[in-house]
Order: sequence, then C-alpha cells, then structure tokens
Amino acid sequence: MAKKALNSLSAADLSGKRVFVRVDFNVPLDEQGKITDDTRIRAALPTIQYLTSNGAKVILASHFGRPKGKVVDSMRLTPVATRLSELLGQSVTKCDDCIGDAVASTIAGMKDGDVALLENVRFYAEEEKNNPEFSQKLASVADLYVNDAFGTAHRAHASTEGVTHYLNPSVAGFLIEKELQYLQGAIEEPQRPLAAIIGGSKVSSKITVIETLLEKVDKLLIGGGMIFTFYRARGLSVGKSLVEDEYVELAQKLEAKAKERGVELVLPTDVVVADNFAPDANAQTVSISNIPDGWMGLDIGPDSIKQFESALADCKTVIWNGPMGVFEFDKFAKGTEAVAKSLATLTGKGASTIVGGGDSVAAVEKVGLADQMSHISTGGGASLELLEGKVLPGIAALNDA
Ligand code: AMP
Repeated sequence: MAKKALNSLSAADLSGKRVFVRVDFNVPLDEQGKITDDTRIRAALPTIQYLTSNGAKVILASHFGRPKGKVVDSMRLTPVATRLSELLGQSVTKCDDCIGDAVASTIAGMKDGDVALLENVRFYAEEEKNNPEFSQKLASVADLYVNDAFGTAHRAHASTEGVTHYLNPSVAGFLIEKELQYLQGAIEEPQRPLAAIIGGSKVSSKITVIETLLEKVDKLLIGGGMIFTFYRARGLSVGKSLVEDEYVELAQKLEAKAKERGVELVLPTDVVVADNFAPDANAQTVSISNIPDGWMGLDIGPDSIKQFESALADCKTVIWNGPMGVFEFDKFAKGTEAVAKSLATLTGKGASTIVGGGDSVAAVEKVGLADQMSHISTGGGASLELLEGKVLPGIAALNDA
C-alpha cells in the first residue's frame, strides 16, 4: 500500500458535530457474557476522549461476533456499553439498533460531549455486503466519519467503507494512525537492519507476505510449521511434520530470491520433534538433517534460538508475525517465548519492535511481555495485508491530507 498522508482527526472541526466512529469492539466474552479482555475497548479510548473533550457528539458503531445478518441476543453490544462507560467515567447510551427512527431520535437528543453506542452492525446482512442504502442510513445521523477500527480496515463493509461516500470529511482515528505509523513505517522507512520473523502453521497463508518482505528486509527469519516445506525443498526428510507439497517448489524459489537479493534467510538448524500432536507427547531435540520417521517438528530447537538471537542482535527494526511452534502446548512454546524475550531486549536497546496481530500477540501476552514491545497490532488480518503491500479499503476510503 503506498503511503498515504491521511487527513488527521486533530485537524477536524468537531465542536457540536455528530461524529460517526467505527470502532472494533469485537471483544471476547466468557460463557456468562462477561468481557474477558477489554484491550480493544481501551485501544479506542484516545479517539473517543479526544472527540468528547472537543465537544463532539460521539456515535460509536462496531461489529460483534458473527451473527450472519440476524439479530442474535447473545451478540448484542450491551456488555461493551457498560464496560466503555466504566472506562470513560461517563454514561454511554446504548441503542437497540444501528439504523432507524429510534436511533435518529436518540441522536437528536444528544448533547455535545455525549457518547452513544449503536447496536451490532452485523445484525444486518447489508453490512458485510457494503450495501449503499444501508451505508446511507448509517451515515444519515452524522456529520463526519472517523474510522478507528484497524482490525476490520481490510474489509470493504458498509460501516468501514460504504459510509465514507456519504460523510465528509472521513478521517482516521488515533488508533489507525498509530497502526499505520508503525506498520507502514517499518516497511517503508525503517531504521536498518530490518528483520522480519515469520512463523505460523502454513507457507500458503504467508506466501504473499514473505514475497513482499523479501523486497524490503535485510534479514528474514522463518519458524513455525512452514519451515518443513523449506526443508523438503532442500531434499531433507521431515517425518510427519506439516508439509504443503504444492508449495515445495515455491519454497525453493523463495530461497533463491533471498540469495539473489542479498537477504539473510535464517532457517532453524534444529527442531523439537514429538511422537504425536499432543501437549504431553514425547519430545526430543534433533538437527534438521536427523528428523526421525514418524515424528513431527513442533518447535524450533535451542541452537536455532541462539541462531535467531544472534541474527536479531544488531537489528534496529523487527516485525514479527506468527509463532515459532505450537506454543499452545507448553512443551513446544520455548521458541516462541525466546523470540518474545529477544524482542523485549531489543526494545530496551532502542529498536522498534512490532508484533503483528493474532497468535503472536497471544504468545507475547502469555509470556507477559506485551508492554515491552514498541507496537502490538490490534489487527491480525489487517496487519498482514498491510505488510503484504495490499490496499486496505477502510483506509483507502479516507480523505487524504
Ligand atoms: P498462523 O495462524 O498461520 O499464524 O498459525 C498459527 C498456528 O500455527 C498456531 O496455532 C500454532 O500452533 C501453529 N504452528 C506453529 N508451529 C507449528 C508446527 N511446527 N506444526 C504445526 N502447527 C504449528
């Protein structure tokens, strides 16, 4: 995605304005309907508080779960409104719908600095279809638009893209600004050396990002299940490890491309193998040329950890996406934990460390190092697409500065 100077929220005229703010309040709930992690609500606070303190009437919209275009009572945003009100220290009016007369009259009664939360936009199938009439109905209650839902910015939905055709200006909130500053900054104007660490289960889901990153990075470290496709490409036996046969040739090409571009490609030299895919499986560490038949690689080994640490030691910018092993099982979480620790150390030395969304974030949180990263993205899919160089429709639709 070409770097785009977005019209900033701080330049907008806000006093007395009705501002439609798309946030990502898709938080996890437990079986009793209690919020178990309010990170996403907290992440939207700077934008909301900036708006209220500048006299705007704040109309918040979000999706929640996958109700598939129908009203599902367990996917109402009511618990979110309660939590948000506690965090803001002011009351939040919760609407029972996201469009219609009742919503319009609630908003007509709002005073400057008030906050209202609309009901789950995905109760309407028109949301994900980016239906123009529905977008217009959403927009009809507001004067301007702020998108602060980075996690859904890669989707062209009515509340992320459609509404921008009916509201002017449409600007980025502070969370999206921060996400772009770190993620785009890392690939477009990084302090070098720049390293990317890519892990996760499959080569297939990370192919585009690996290809794009090979054009940008100085070092590429690969871990997770995808390494075995690279080993197969080198003619090694990988036992029962995860291999995507149809990507073996591509893995070979990627290695060649790295060489051609002078990118240091770091592949683990040893792995922890297991006799089955289970938390209590028997495990042993072997060199990658000695993976026994019938065993599967579930983590990178101790030599590889050292190899990764030394490759990262002089890096000034590091982007990390995807775990190094099956970190959900403690026995196979050491590689992922070690990478998290290395990044924390690098942050301490002044490097910029950026963790892409999804599983790597869960891993960093599991080891309690989340606050020692320069930036943790709130969007798994969106951050990956941004690193892949794709245009995110929810961001492309905003006004340029
Ligand atoms: P992704 O969503 O592609 O980032 O993949 C994350 C998943 O990859 C996690 O659930 C890990 O358990 C899994 N994973 C990491 N390493 C391996 C491996 N060696 N074999 C199988 N799965 C793995």
